[in-house]
Amino acid sequence: MPATTTYRIAVLPGDGIGRDVTDAAVAVLKAATRHWTGTQLEFREYQAGAAEYLRSGCDLPEATLAACRESDAVLLGAMGLPDVRKADGRELTPQIELREILDLYCGLRPIQLFHSADTPLKGRDAGEIDFVIVRENTEGLFFARHEQRPATDFEARDTLRITRAGSERVFRSAFRLARRRRRHVTLVDKANVLPSMVFFRKVFDEVAAEFPEVTTDRMYVDAAALHLVRRPESFDVLVTENMFGDILSDLAAALVGGMGMAPSADIGDEAAVFQPSHGTAPDIAGKGIANPIATILSAALMLEWLECPECIAAAARIRGAVTAVLSDPACRTPDLSGRMKTEGLTAEIVERLDISGERSGGGV
Ligand code: ATP
Repeated sequence: MPATTTYRIAVLPGDGIGRDVTDAAVAVLKAATRHWTGTQLEFREYQAGAAEYLRSGCDLPEATLAACRESDAVLLGAMGLPDVRKADGRELTPQIELREILDLYCGLRPIQLFHSADTPLKGRDAGEIDFVIVRENTEGLFFARHEQRPATDFEARDTLRITRAGSERVFRSAFRLARRRRRHVTLVDKANVLPSMVFFRKVFDEVAAEFPEVTTDRMYVDAAALHLVRRPESFDVLVTENMFGDILSDLAAALVGGMGMAPSADIGDEAAVFQPSHGTAPDIAGKGIANPIATILSAALMLEWLECPECIAAAARIRGAVTAVLSDPACRTPDLSGRMKTEGLTAEIVERLDISGERSGGGV
């Protein structure tokens, strides 16, 4: 008998709605892979986040970190709670630490319109909007997290750090991605004001020359916010600095139905973490009404990243099931003006897995 390939998936539910949405994604993954013959997924759960910090004094325990390093991929829910803070007032963000420790420099935020009811794009056809924001994940303005320069009563400063190496690698990821899509990359910067952004653009231009088959344009971040709302269909791949990517990802998520519809992947050369773009949503935690679709689509991204033929086919079935479910107005959670609960919607997606064999667009 041929050997079975086993992919080890570390599951980190975290806090708030993180548990609900990871349970949903694991249920869908198990159902989508149950007929596999040559491959299997093995799930193991690990603790991290604000609740773990309250329990053990550490929000990202060594054992969890080791498991993330040793696993083939990490599926993460959401972490941090507004009331659990560090001495300086900031929230705990172990998911950002994980990104930095594992050097997950390429943040993929795919934005796809599955249905336009309950979105600002009412009337648009599903599939009309399909772009990916590539967010630099390890430097930019988030670099200031590491600065030991306490604010005085008169002044506070944060450094925006751009390096050649950090920029080149994320730009190359964006161009390689565009090569598999519609072959266009938009650089989003603020090169009209900030010297760091002039440098960012210079490095972009150099990397662009390595990919003559991909067309490019350059846009200031304020203009990008406007154009994302007015003509989202015109974008293919956008690549940008860490903080700009953080902000534009939420704006773009709102275009297609909100945070519950926005998957993400943080990818490095050695590891990758897949999680919804949203946070722990304390306002709806414990109510069983979180929209699990962002996490389920992140799980599909994970399967595509694992790249085995059975994984790719299962990812296509998951996307097909999500598309089928969203075409039914009865199958919506409250964030999309529906009444369905997380578990109910997950069951509907599982039910449609077997009838959705075709790839229905999306994916990166
Ligand atoms: P973070 O700073 O950790 O990214 P955030 O402050 O941006 O978090 P979120 O937790 O993402 O906040 O939630 C923002 C809003 O979106 C909240 O009103 C929340 O209820 C809603 N929301 C987020 N995720 C979901 C989801 N999966 N289903 C339904 N509503 C959601």
